[in-house]
Amino acid sequence: MPLHIENRFSVQLPADTDESNTTRQVHQACFSYVTPRIPSNPSWIHYSKDVAALIGITEEELQSDEYLNYLSGKILIQDTKPYAMAYAGHQFGNWAGQLGDGRAINLTEVVYENNYYTLQLKGAGSTPYSRRADGLAVLRSSIREHLCSEAMHYLGIPTTRSLSLILTGDEVLRDMLYDGHPALEKGAVVCRVAPSFIRFGSFELFASRNDVTNLKRLTDFTIKHHFPQIIGLGKQQYIEFFQTIASTTLEMIIHWQRVGFVHGVMNTDNMSIHGITIDYGPYGWLDDFNLNWTPNTTDREHGRYRYGNQPEIALWNLYQLANALYPLIDEAAPLEAVLNQYKADYDKQYNAMMQSKLGLLSAEDTDALLMEELVQTLQFEEIDMTLFFRNLSKINKTTTIDEALALIENAFYNSPRLLENTNQLWADWMASYLNRLQKETASNDNRTALMNSVNPKYVLRNYMAQLAIDAADKGDYSVLNELYELLQHPYDEQTNNEKWFAKRPDWARNKVGCSMLSCSS
Ligand code: AMP
Ligand code: MG
Repeated sequence: MPLHIENRFSVQLPADTDESNTTRQVHQACFSYVTPRIPSNPSWIHYSKDVAALIGITEEELQSDEYLNYLSGKILIQDTKPYAMAYAGHQFGNWAGQLGDGRAINLTEVVYENNYYTLQLKGAGSTPYSRRADGLAVLRSSIREHLCSEAMHYLGIPTTRSLSLILTGDEVLRDMLYDGHPALEKGAVVCRVAPSFIRFGSFELFASRNDVTNLKRLTDFTIKHHFPQIIGLGKQQYIEFFQTIASTTLEMIIHWQRVGFVHGVMNTDNMSIHGITIDYGPYGWLDDFNLNWTPNTTDREHGRYRYGNQPEIALWNLYQLANALYPLIDEAAPLEAVLNQYKADYDKQYNAMMQSKLGLLSAEDTDALLMEELVQTLQFEEIDMTLFFRNLSKINKTTTIDEALALIENAFYNSPRLLENTNQLWADWMASYLNRLQKETASNDNRTALMNSVNPKYVLRNYMAQLAIDAADKGDYSVLNELYELLQHPYDEQTNNEKWFAKRPDWARNKVGCSMLSCSS
């Protein structure tokens, strides 16, 4: 069946009048038309048939040369005119001015079963927003984006999706560690799918230029097509718009904290207005539970985007969005009220999330202390977050302290014996936890089921993605396929996959790609 093409963004919003593909500042426009670069020899690596089904493509169609050509940028889908979006942003806390899609090109919007989706190629060549870079993406970063988008989706976390991962047949020059040793790597293209790719930075661009006309056009468009539930008029609709973004953003952050996902580059240009995770660059997953960990080498010194700081940073980014929308509202108080609400809601939702991770179905006054002590105790030595929480569900009301400690022991990187000096801390915490469980009226089975639905058994640990990359680089996609299947059911017991329910192996502790990543993708 042909795709149902219906372009709203590029038809209803102002286009850059210059159609040349040269790096420039683009004014009074939401996007620039640009044609993807033609890859020399595209070949399939992987696709997601679930994402294809979302937009009405059958697996058979997807496997055709036609789609290999569309999704690699070799041939344009009929009746479409691709474009790169204009946006600005704050990067690492500083105003960065115009950024835009430097290596992303929107192919088209499609409608299927009354839902609209934008198809976007990442790594399909330069655009007017490429600045000094090449607009390309390498295999390693494309595998990471493809696998992680889908893993996040199956974890129940709002995210952009990834339809396809295609090798371009071209080579790309990258200095992976920024140490003056550039090397050629395989180039790849991912096709991302989302309701839209509008970001906080899309609004910041117009606000920074005092272009209130286009700020209003973009905001009105976004509300009309993406937030139809907003019924207020005038200023009220903009306040509701901001309120909705604040609450979906908060929900997303709570999910990230729940599973130990660290985005790595929470710049305002990487914040979707849909509250979905976007732009998988140097992201990472906590192996050992460490509030200060960040995967991003560029951010090692300041740790701005470290795990424990993500809720704060989301709020900081919302402040920037509030500033950008301010000209449409002309009043600070309602925006401030939303920002204050975020703080209150965060505490409430964080507590509820932690309650569920601990299997506490009722609420007791002492729970906040129990959770705080846990977060502190988890940090005294290296303890694997995923293993720890998953194993906790095996504890029940009749478990003794010694049995309970034995159940969590394999989460300790210093196992088999718990470290002497933290032994007592753990014995104390476990005693409080077991004591607390006595107050629960739910059956052990119910509690275990709840815990196993929020504490994943399998996540995309950094070393796992790296194993898939190393094999794929040699033309072997079996690990990638295996991980993709595994991560479609992250909460299930998968008896054949116990090997992935394990601590990060020692060889991966300091290996590039497994413990640290740069932005050079
Ligand atoms: P990021 O923080 O990685 O999402 O990217 C920040 C900005 O740099 C965005 O405007 C990107 O489009 C741009 N960018 C990143 N990598 C490239 C690349 N290889 N070529 C062109 N632009 C890029
Ligand atoms: Mg980005």
